[in-house]
Amino acid sequence: MRDSQDRELGMDRPITRRDFLNGVALTLGAAIVPSPLFAAFDSSTPSNYYPPAQTGLRGSHVGSFEVAHEVRDGTFWDHAGSAKDTGEVYDLVVVGGGISGLSAAHFFRKVAGPKARVLILDNHDDFGGHAKRNEFRIGDKFRLGYGGTFSIESPEPYSVVSKALVEELGIDVASYPSYVDKKLYSSNGLSPHIFFDKETFGADKLVINPMDIGSSETGDKPRAGAERFKKFMAEAPLSDTAKQDLQRLLDDQKDYLPGLSSDEKKARLARMSYAAFLTELVKVNDEVVKMYQAMPQPLFGVGIDAMAAQDAWGLRLPGFAGMKLDPTPGKGMNRDAIPNDEAEKYFFHFPDGNASIARMLVRKLIPEAISGNTAADVVLARADYAKLDRADSPVRIRLNSTAVRVKHLGDAASAKEVEIAYSRGGKVSTVKAAHCVMACWHVVIPYICEELPDKQKEALAEAAKVPLLYTNVVLNNWSAFHKLGASSIYAPGGYHSFFTLDIPVSMGGYEAAHKPDEPIVVHMMKTPCRPGHPARDQHRIGRGELFSTPFEAIERKIRDELGRALVGGGFDPGRDIAAITVNRWPHGYAYEYNSLWDPFWLEGGETPCEVARKPFGRLAIANSDAGAYAYTDSAIDQAWRAVGEITKQS
Ligand SMILES: Cc1cc2nc3c(=O)[nH]c(=O)nc-3n(C[C@H](O)[C@H](O)[C@H](O)COP(=O)(O)OP(=O)(O)OC[C@H]3O[C@@H](n4cnc5c(N)ncnc54)[C@H](O)[C@@H]3O)c2cc1C
Repeated sequence: MRDSQDRELGMDRPITRRDFLNGVALTLGAAIVPSPLFAAFDSSTPSNYYPPAQTGLRGSHVGSFEVAHEVRDGTFWDHAGSAKDTGEVYDLVVVGGGISGLSAAHFFRKVAGPKARVLILDNHDDFGGHAKRNEFRIGDKFRLGYGGTFSIESPEPYSVVSKALVEELGIDVASYPSYVDKKLYSSNGLSPHIFFDKETFGADKLVINPMDIGSSETGDKPRAGAERFKKFMAEAPLSDTAKQDLQRLLDDQKDYLPGLSSDEKKARLARMSYAAFLTELVKVNDEVVKMYQAMPQPLFGVGIDAMAAQDAWGLRLPGFAGMKLDPTPGKGMNRDAIPNDEAEKYFFHFPDGNASIARMLVRKLIPEAISGNTAADVVLARADYAKLDRADSPVRIRLNSTAVRVKHLGDAASAKEVEIAYSRGGKVSTVKAAHCVMACWHVVIPYICEELPDKQKEALAEAAKVPLLYTNVVLNNWSAFHKLGASSIYAPGGYHSFFTLDIPVSMGGYEAAHKPDEPIVVHMMKTPCRPGHPARDQHRIGRGELFSTPFEAIERKIRDELGRALVGGGFDPGRDIAAITVNRWPHGYAYEYNSLWDPFWLEGGETPCEVARKPFGRLAIANSDAGAYAYTDSAIDQAWRAVGEITKQS
């Protein structure tokens, strides 16, 4: 049975996919599994060391996390052997080669001068952290996708520091409209849709989306209108009661908390989930709740059961029109939920997302590694990985290298040096540095910086991240989307809950797909949350799920989901899928505080990230975790602060 279903889904078809290392299968019980690319990288990097072109399971790929997990489990040093001193001495070692670590290196050199010696260590086979690039070749067409960090955007305006770095890199945010073909999909009659699945809603049905529900990265806003709404109501597989309740939710101007002041209402809404608001106050049918369930996943990695109703109000979800809430943000509102016009206008998307920012930072640090000098020409520039870690360069980036111990040589208050031990290809080596910036994930730090105060370690451990899948599926063409009139699909019950045609951005010689018969990247997003649990528990369970799901299982879900949603457009997953890259991020977004679960956020007081990021001797702590804010500007701002702390020292 499975075999014939698999054949229908095209599981037997040759495509660019299926990593030869397939997730857990090879990692369980393996002491240290080098990246598939590692062996080639270690001696003299050959030209085929090129991680962006890898497909299959990427993100936290096999070979990137096993060492850190062993350090966490206390088993690493049992078999690691003694560390070998490389004899290398640096002015700064940065742990973590994401945007924060790369920015820290850049800021440090501004103060210490271009000759300052800097080493950046990262456990992945590619630099950029979450800001990763996926490349595909389909016949004579070249396609780019973003494997993580999607764009320059932030619910709060970028700080002076972040804006200045964006400008210094040569990115003119205001020029974005000149690169994007904003009308491509709408001029082809495409608009956002909702896919109701039979497991959740009783029937598989793709329906036009006339409401502000479900986000679309293409920028194609759901279009309202009486005719479209009528069509939605006629076609959606919802019961009559659910339809009446939905109409009531959208139209009624009712105050669901009568007799309370605006502040009192906000205080109540901050302590109840939006799901509870819909069920207990608006009293809508469960089908309506299910339809809204996945809405906040792209922001917080959880559904409406774990998002405060006050945040739903800020995000302009329905139900609040008659509640007479004054427009100022309420106590405990999440920063993502506070509308800000200035921030909304500051948006720029490269075809590979913010991987372009990481690549431009690398180009500043090691100019010979990436050619060119503009924000446009970086898009097609091929990074030369052989140039990243050379003894004659003041800045070196050492990939496939997990920091396993960071300690002062002597008492932290008076030591002049820090020793950093890292594991690479099964061997442990050490380097020394005058300073170290920990730009890695905060949860890792307590295990490798044992000398930190316990209170700080506890605060660092609080920053467990939000798990996510960013899946890029390349289709041979987008005719099925075209026939169905769909540019993006919100699938509240789906494995991936959002999928969308790539944003048509062409720049620096890169051409996005313009015609339906051309290959295109479809971006799919999943957050493996577990509704009903507190947010942090949902993330912990979801992280486990991502680490233990092999690529093949995810591929089957992708084929099934696309096949069912697009069947009306003649889509055949066996014929139409050309390549798949699943970017798995069990440690994804920085955790953002939430009024439902974090009393200090609602009631005030020191936040864990403020405790976590305190400097310690010659160590400073960066990463977006240090701001408890899952955005690139946080990664940059925290790097700036961390570098400021160490450069004040002698
Ligand atoms: C799927 C996804 C989509 C996102 N989309 C956006 C977006 O559109 N816009 C936006 O502003 N932000 C987005 N973000 C948030 C993103 O996290 C930040 O914008 C930014 O890229 C984070 O940079 P960072 O350097 O702080 O952390 P990271 O990018 O996580 O980099 C930290 C690096 O440290 C490494 N590391 C950890 N432990 C060790 C160790 N022991 N030794 C060596 N290296 C180690 C990690 O593996 C990682 O490579 C997204 C995040 C994810 C996961």
